[in-house]
Amino acid sequence: MQDISFEQGPIRPPSEATSLLLRVTRNCPWNRCDFCPVYKGSKFSRRTVDEVLADIGAMARGLDHIRAQSVARGYGGEFPPGFLAELYHAPGATLPIQSLVMWLYRGGTSAFLQDADSMVVKPEDLARILRALRKTFPFLERVTCYARSQTLARRSDEDLNTLRAAGLDRVHVGLESGSDHVLKSVRKGCTAERHIVGGRRVIEAGLELSEYVMPGLGGRALSNEHAVETARVLNEIDPHFIRLRSLAVPRGVPLAQMVRSGKFELLREIEIVQEIRTFVEHLDGIGSYLASDHILNLLMEVEGKLPEDKPRILACLDHFLALPTDEQNTYIIGRRSGLFRCPDDVRDPQRRKWAEERARRLADEGRFEETVRDLMRRFV
Ligand code: SF4
Repeated sequence: MQDISFEQGPIRPPSEATSLLLRVTRNCPWNRCDFCPVYKGSKFSRRTVDEVLADIGAMARGLDHIRAQSVARGYGGEFPPGFLAELYHAPGATLPIQSLVMWLYRGGTSAFLQDADSMVVKPEDLARILRALRKTFPFLERVTCYARSQTLARRSDEDLNTLRAAGLDRVHVGLESGSDHVLKSVRKGCTAERHIVGGRRVIEAGLELSEYVMPGLGGRALSNEHAVETARVLNEIDPHFIRLRSLAVPRGVPLAQMVRSGKFELLREIEIVQEIRTFVEHLDGIGSYLASDHILNLLMEVEGKLPEDKPRILACLDHFLALPTDEQNTYIIGRRSGLFRCPDDVRDPQRRKWAEERARRLADEGRFEETVRDLMRRFV
């Protein structure tokens, strides 16, 4: 087998778990958000178009290799799951080949351009990359990337139209908050107004827009403002997707120091649910899909199409808020321990018993919230 290698970055949005990862830049050009651990200590750099095109070529050769293996092993060039599992675990399987095998295993129909802000690439260069990707893998149904609102707000309508025509379908943006106070306090490097300009520009270019919101990011002091202002900004943008990703604070980030010094007061789990309720209540006049697809969210079923599913989403939040504290704690500790996915899972007697006992013991010892935060850090 020829040496097949290409570069991939550390993260992608949860909804791109099935996507082929193509790295067009390294790390984050901003890299100052106080809550974000992902690229701290890593310098941003651009990759040349030739480097990225070489990676696309290597991926194509990797795919040819996998297809040849399929023929050689009697699968006729198809990729049935058993064959892919066999190849993934084959002695000597390299990381790039395993990455391509996983992509095929999960459907092999989408690609994500890494890292944190692919829109910083010159539009004509990004368009070249997109065209090459589409030409090499004509079966791709969706190509997406992350972008900062600040960068999007600087792109012209013509630039974004060019990128859509070249094959970009969707842009993921870390909005986090629509409150200027919250955005400033966590050094997001963006304002509510720039979020609106950047977001609207994406939609007007005919691209899909996915906006990430971070419940809890205002802390106790700004919780209500965070909820109300974030809803206001999203009402102005009307993105295709609003995705919740609750705050968890890993030890090494600047926000952790603010928590330790008392400058930032973290919300309790139940207060975050209340904050999400206020947020959803204020979403108005938009047709977004509200998604809860991040493992850090407590209630994964808080999702649906607006406006029609809003009453059901609010009812689900109200139901949880009305539960006795013991019941809430049982679910919270079970969910954070990876035992439950939704409140109905609490009905399982064995899992319930374990979670109930652990929640009671932690509450008695006064370690409930601290333990929950430790458990959540595992997923950041
Ligand atoms: S812009 Fe995104 S990737 Fe960059 S520091 Fe902020 S949250 Fe992290």
